[in-house]
Parts: sequence; structure tokens; C-alpha cells
Amino acid sequence: MYSTKKIIAMTRKIRVSKSVLNNEEAKAVSRVISGDGYLGMGKEVQKFEEDLKKFLGAKRKVICVNTGTAALHLAVASVTKPGDEILVQSLTYVASFQAISGASAVPIACEVDPTTMTIDLQDAEKRITDKTKAIMPIHYAGDPGNLDEIYKFAKKHNLRVIEDAAHAFGTIYKRKLIGSFGDIVCFSFDGIKNITSGEGGAIVTADLKVAQYVKDGRLLGVHKDTERRYKGLRSWKFDVTHQGYRYHMSNLCAAIGRVQLRKFSSFKKNRQYLAERYVEFLKNIDGVEIFKKNYNNIVPHIFSIKVMNGRRDKLMQYLNDSHVECGIHYYPNHLLSYYKSGILPVTEDIYNQLLTLPLHPNLTRAQQDTVISSIRKFCKK
Ligand SMILES: *Cc1c(COP(=O)(O)O)cnc(C)c1O
Repeated sequence: MYSTKKIIAMTRKIRVSKSVLNNEEAKAVSRVISGDGYLGMGKEVQKFEEDLKKFLGAKRKVICVNTGTAALHLAVASVTKPGDEILVQSLTYVASFQAISGASAVPIACEVDPTTMTIDLQDAEKRITDKTKAIMPIHYAGDPGNLDEIYKFAKKHNLRVIEDAAHAFGTIYKRKLIGSFGDIVCFSFDGIKNITSGEGGAIVTADLKVAQYVKDGRLLGVHKDTERRYKGLRSWKFDVTHQGYRYHMSNLCAAIGRVQLRKFSSFKKNRQYLAERYVEFLKNIDGVEIFKKNYNNIVPHIFSIKVMNGRRDKLMQYLNDSHVECGIHYYPNHLLSYYKSGILPVTEDIYNQLLTLPLHPNLTRAQQDTVISSIRKFCKK
């Protein structure tokens, strides 16, 4: 049992991120349970994939899996062989790195461009070897940076592109939705992303070979099991041609995802409104710096700022004491024991400044005002 004081403190706390679901998702899950009672991968997943395809409005394959990490892992496995190298910014969620090493490929940690927080191509170019097979750009906070330049770079060096678009569901780049173009694009639908399916992810591609590899790969490699499951059939006699995993999405998760997709435009509006409001009220405060972004196109998954003068940890503590939860996205991967590699000065510098402020569709203006006024008070001290 929590004490009354603790419960009051918990309810007062302004969360850095939050899942936003209600009765509608509950009803959808309940419909799956009381329907044909088939909870695994079946018709509901097929429908979620069709909904996503419609949303993206492009002739591409959409394959749903049980996490964003699984999406990245299968994407990497589909285009690499063991020992192949993938260029990736160090400043990303450890999922990006684990997805690469999980497929026995090698993540090559690169610097970030400190204005967009996406991969620094000049730095990446220096790290190309004859084993480099792909580049994995991260659309940090929903911003794909200069994606055209990444595709030019990939073409020049004959690399595959695996977009880690976990933050960027719904973001528009040059009038096109992320995922409606490009080589292989991976989304995450975990609890706090721009839309959630409880847990989940998706791979989007126009490459039919990759699509078939991933479709089989999510079902233990069982060839064309997806096609049979969508007809309500099972595979009793089958072939397996490559390593697979239990990575398929369940009907329960797909049911949640379908409801969330219908709510996306309101989530998007709230996220963009709140991000613009942060910019407006934080831009003139000495001691913090904001990233300049166009929130007409970007759907921000997180809102990070830079805290100057070595005071990041102090501000984080101050906000926590004021019941404002914050985050740090991310601890650089090249500093982890498992991925230890040389020094990346730009990444390490910016990491020490980064602070993520509360942002989710249910954050109220009053709560956001508390966040802003707390920062203002701290910076005056
Ligand atoms: C969330 C996230 C992932 C992984 O997604 P999961 O669904 O949590 O497995 C990968 N990369 C980045 C940048 C993420 O934020």
C-alpha cells in the first residue's frame, strides 16, 4: 500500500510520456476476445496492416510485428550477412544497436548533426569500409533531418537504408508521409509512441524480397505461413529457408492499434500544438536552448532541449522536485560496455546537455505551464 502522501505526489507528478487509451481500445480488445477467440496473428492483424497501408497511401508492403525492435532486427537480417557493418548514430535508443548486433551485423557508431540530431554524414563517410552494407538513420524526436541527403549518400556508396522511424509515425517530409517512400522503414507502436498497439512495430517496404523474408521471419521462418493464417488456416506441412523468430503481432494488439490509428489526427494536433507552445515560451530563456523545427510537418514523439553551462543534471533534479518528470534521450551507445568504441566528442557534448520535457497528447496547458515556469524559475537562480 502507498501512503496518502505518496499517492497525492504520484497524481501530481507530470509525466514525461504516457499511453493515452480509453474505453474504445478496451472495447476493441474485448471484441477480439469474444469474437472467434483467436488471439494470435489472424484477421485483425491483416486489417491493421491494410489500415496502415491506406494511411500511408502508397503501394508498399506493411508487415506488423510485436515490437519496433523486432521490426529493425528483421529488417537488418533481411539485407545483411554476419559481419556486415551498419552506420548508425550513437545517440539513439539501445534498441537500434541491439537490432543490428542481434542479426550478427556490426553497428558502427557515428556522430550526430547537433542541429537536427540525426546522423552526421560527413562523419559517417569516414567510417565506410568494404564491409559497410547499410545506413540506419534515426528520425530523432520525429525529425527525419535531411533524408534526401541520406538517400543520395546511400546511392553513392551502394548502401541499403533502414529508417528507424520509431519516433516519426505521421511525420511529413517534403509533402510525403514517412514510410510512404524509401527503402525499408521501421515503426514502433510501443506504449508511448505516436500511436500504440500496446506493444508492436511494423516494417514498410516496396522490396518484395525483403517483405517475404520479414513475413516468414516473424513466424519462425515458416514459408508463407502469413498467407495461410490470413485465410484462417494453419501450416501443418511447410518449409523453412532461414532463421526466424516469434515476432508476429497478436490480434489483441492489432485491435488496439486500429483504434489508435483512427485517433491519430487528434494525437498529432495535440503533440504539435504543445511542441510549438514549448518553443514559444522557452525560446527567450537564458540557460536553455531549443531545437528549431517545423511542427507543421513533424509529429514530435519527444521534446528535448539543451541545458547550457553544465546545469542539465541540476535542472533535472529541480524539475523532479517540482513533480515534473524528465528524461534523457539518449545515453550514447558507444559508451556502453557491449558496444564500446572510440570517442565521439560532438555526441558526448550534446548528450550532457540534453533534457527531455513532458510531452504526450493528454498533457494539459496548465501542466505545461508548470513545466515552463519551473524552468524559468531555475534559470533565474
Ligand atoms: C521505441 C524505439 C525503438 C524500439 O521500439 P520498441 O517497440 O520499443 O521495441 C527503436 N528505436 C527508437 C529510436 C525508439 O525510440
